[in-house]
Amino acid sequence: MSVFNTSHRPDNLILYLDAVSVSFDGFKALNALSFYVGRGELRAIIGPNGAGKTTMMDVVTGKTRPDVGSVVFGDRVDLTKLDEAEIANLGIGRKFQKPTVFENQTVFENLELALAGDRSIWASLFFRLNGAQRQRIQQVLALIRLHERRDWLAGNLSHGQKQWLEIGMLLMQDPQLLLVDEPAAGMTDEETMRTAQMLKEIAKDHSVVVVEHDMAFVKSLQCRVTVLHEGSVLAEGSLETVQANEQVIEVYLGR
Ligand code: ADP
Repeated sequence: MSVFNTSHRPDNLILYLDAVSVSFDGFKALNALSFYVGRGELRAIIGPNGAGKTTMMDVVTGKTRPDVGSVVFGDRVDLTKLDEAEIANLGIGRKFQKPTVFENQTVFENLELALAGDRSIWASLFFRLNGAQRQRIQQVLALIRLHERRDWLAGNLSHGQKQWLEIGMLLMQDPQLLLVDEPAAGMTDEETMRTAQMLKEIAKDHSVVVVEHDMAFVKSLQCRVTVLHEGSVLAEGSLETVQANEQVIEVYLGR
């Protein structure tokens, strides 16, 4: 199916995948995948296991190079020509499924370390925050609902709170585009709903692409949804629209 039947082209693009294919030993994990994400948009990517969601994120972050196709960031930066570090430096942050925080540091220190960026943990001990940086940490603490736990050791947070802290750490780098992999996995229902609200707030200042399985979570994001299947876009639109799509129903229920 051609994506151009389904994918809406926003005026102001942050990300554009154009006919991207990736093969592993002859198996096409991505098969001429094309879609657009608008600047300032919150987008959910869904699809059954093996649909190519992780490979798509790997291609955007430079972990995997496509065989053919282009991945355009912003107006015209072709990400396929850059390595992972260069892509991260452009302002693309990725949150993996498993939280990786510094368990023996406090919530505040974790955000401070994230601000220190590439510096080693030792060098960052000598890193002094200026007023604007302190203010940014306070803003992020409020956004990730950890203001009251700012002095807790990260290791004492719940799984959901660690996920929020890691999202906060990515925000300290002020990314233009945030890729988030299954944030709701392992969360309580309440944490799941708070996470959806949080991502909606984050998307006011950043473009956010979320890969997710949990349909209740996707519903509460209230955003455009792209359905991947066999490495291509199967459908795109509101969750209600794609859930009513016969091909989508077949892919999800017909196995
Ligand atoms: P999803 O994240 O939607 O579950 P993936 O992108 O992980 O899908 O995988 C898409 C397909 O590509 C799957 O069939 C998977 O087995 C295959 N695949 C992914 N990575 C590799 C790899 N490094 N080597 C071989 N096959 C892979």
